[in-house]
Amino acid sequence: MRPWTLDSLERGCRKAVAQRSSIKIAALPVGYDADVEGAGSGGRLRMRHDLHKGGLIETAVHEAVHDVLSDVLTCFDEALEEAVVTALEADLVRRIMNSKRRLAWWRKATSRRLKKRSRR
Ligand SMILES: [Zn+2]
Repeated sequence: MRPWTLDSLERGCRKAVAQRSSIKIAALPVGYDADVEGAGSGGRLRMRHDLHKGGLIETAVHEAVHDVLSDVLTCFDEALEEAVVTALEADLVRRIMNSKRRLAWWRKATSRRLKKRSRR
């Protein structure tokens, strides 16, 4: 298997978000700015995002990494999985925010996945 690169990881995340995700705005408990149902299932990714906490692109990238790397992440316990995903999220988000073109793609894609009813 070829090693993951930042490039292939972003491509995987884009595919997951654009083709299989929905994002709902919700007030989430302390300690959570987003969560996801269905990560690693190959099916629908139901993301919830707390509008008043994290940024939408950050949380969508984060939850997509959980999905895309779900096979790899099975060898970590929950706390370590979170640490790995958060580190990769930071690298991916830095890459996205430093590129006008990438930022435009993520802006559009995450806006489209927001459920109409929860759009504000
Ligand atoms: Zn997480």
